[in-house]
Amino acid sequence: MSDMINEAAEAPVDFIRAIVAEEVKAGKHGGNVMTRFPPEPNGYLHIGHAKALCLDFGIADEFNGKCNLRMDDTNPTKENYEYVNSIIEDVKWLGFDPEERIYFASDYFERMYECAVELIKRGKAYVCDLSFEEWEQYRGNLTEPGKNSPNRDRSVEENLDLFQRMRNGEFEDGAMVLRAKIDMASPNINMRDPVLYRIRREHHFRHGDKWCIYPMYDFAHPLEDAFEGITHSLCTLEFEIHRPFYDWLLETLDYPHRPRQIEFSRLNLNYTVMSKRKLLQLVKENHVNGWDDPRMPTISGLRRRGVPAAAVRNFIKGVGITKFDGVTDMVRLENSIREELNATAPRFLAVLDPIPVEIINYPETPVEPLIAVNNPEDPEAGSRELAFGRKLYIDRADFMIEPPKGYFRLAPGKEVRLRYGYYIKCESYETDADGNVTKVLCSYDPETRGGSSPDGRKVKGTIHWVNADTAIEAEIRLYDRLFTAEFPGLENGEKVDFLTQLNPDSVKTVTGYLEPALGALAVGSVVQFERTGYFAVDPDTEKAGKMVFNRTVSLKDSWNKKK
Ligand code: ATP
Ligand code: MG
Repeated sequence: MSDMINEAAEAPVDFIRAIVAEEVKAGKHGGNVMTRFPPEPNGYLHIGHAKALCLDFGIADEFNGKCNLRMDDTNPTKENYEYVNSIIEDVKWLGFDPEERIYFASDYFERMYECAVELIKRGKAYVCDLSFEEWEQYRGNLTEPGKNSPNRDRSVEENLDLFQRMRNGEFEDGAMVLRAKIDMASPNINMRDPVLYRIRREHHFRHGDKWCIYPMYDFAHPLEDAFEGITHSLCTLEFEIHRPFYDWLLETLDYPHRPRQIEFSRLNLNYTVMSKRKLLQLVKENHVNGWDDPRMPTISGLRRRGVPAAAVRNFIKGVGITKFDGVTDMVRLENSIREELNATAPRFLAVLDPIPVEIINYPETPVEPLIAVNNPEDPEAGSRELAFGRKLYIDRADFMIEPPKGYFRLAPGKEVRLRYGYYIKCESYETDADGNVTKVLCSYDPETRGGSSPDGRKVKGTIHWVNADTAIEAEIRLYDRLFTAEFPGLENGEKVDFLTQLNPDSVKTVTGYLEPALGALAVGSVVQFERTGYFAVDPDTEKAGKMVFNRTVSLKDSWNKKK
């Protein structure tokens, strides 16, 4: 946790941290800070959730407080333990530790029920059996006030009896609801006697069929916060108009130490979607291979792709916390990933689009190994040996028969440096019937071992290579963005089906030729293939019988160049 605290210490002070600091100084809540991160276990966490949880856990860390991980499981239809487990794993992977404070909102159902009974006793809630059509008529709209329900003046005794019978299962689903009694003329529609409980015969993954009435989010959430002694309830902007009800409820129930709800803007990223409904649809309809598909904006997808947790945290820190809605460019995330991996990922040689090279004056068997540096950015990463040889592969893009001006790689009669190796010069080449290069024949200069010439002769280009006899073949998955549209779901300002904008080239699989050391990497390791990009060993390696790599990110922002 110590590196996290350092990161936090550098974090710019946003308006939420400023509020918390001021309240702590003033001794509010005895100077304590208690936050919570409350995901609904109806999907996997995504990069947007990372923003919320870095804030919730981050503030707790910075102010010597605690942060609860609370499963907001009050809406049983789409929740399950697969999601619960993935959420816990992702939170921990991001570097945050809820310790023993993993809670389930549904475990408070009995206490919530008691709170509802208390509201009824105080004359602040009533059972209402308006039909859906009547409900529409009574509700009013943004410009017109609503009308009081004919049920609004039921006696406390009748309400208590009806609510108990709702719980007992005496009424059909939807036959009636429990409502707060506030103000049907309020300009804020959320204050027009909002629904607190509805009847739904749904199976809850944690409580089975114990309940047939379920609390509404707006009723449940403030109570969950109050039960846990939360001091600062941080949430996204869409909850701003729900805040008056949040405060009304806890005030009406006389909670002495009330949490303060503060809203901030969501993270939106271009070229992806973040609604759980859409992410679920991508998974269910097999547009991707599961929630952890490396193209998904989920935490598990990013992890599988090879993105380090520190890159996610740094990205979130860079985006900052404000009240303004905006869209963050995917390039910023990609740059955070590059920055982190540049410092941490060891470097290797791999050729993903090979053409054979034969060194015509080199013996059939290697004479001596070459020394390669593992990471020039990290002296502690050490070095390794590479076997040179007569038969090599180089990347197809590194040879041209008729090179344009300024091309410093291999071409007929031209000399280049092989990374960690010798100077080689192209003597001739072979092509197939269509004119495609099938082999390049080169000579090498034995005096240039290690990459420089004793006669001071310079070459401008350095290219990567592998020894064709010792290289291992691996499956390389080259990922690109999942959508071609910057704002999936929109085209020229018109709404369209986001699935029509899936990028047909979001993954391309090739066979790569890798230096042998790469065959020993464990699943999850991330390395740089020099001059190409960062690549992570995929879990499929275990069942594929060969190494499988995911491209985490290319070395440069190739996307912008393509446009
Ligand atoms: P849905 O997509 O179904 O509306 P949700 O994204 O709000 O759901 P929750 O599980 O309720 O999902 O989210 C948990 C917490 O994460 C909430 O506090 C929510 O405000 C926050 N959160 C969700 N998406 C983002 C986002 N894009 N940026 C910042 N915070 C987010
Ligand atoms: Mg939500």
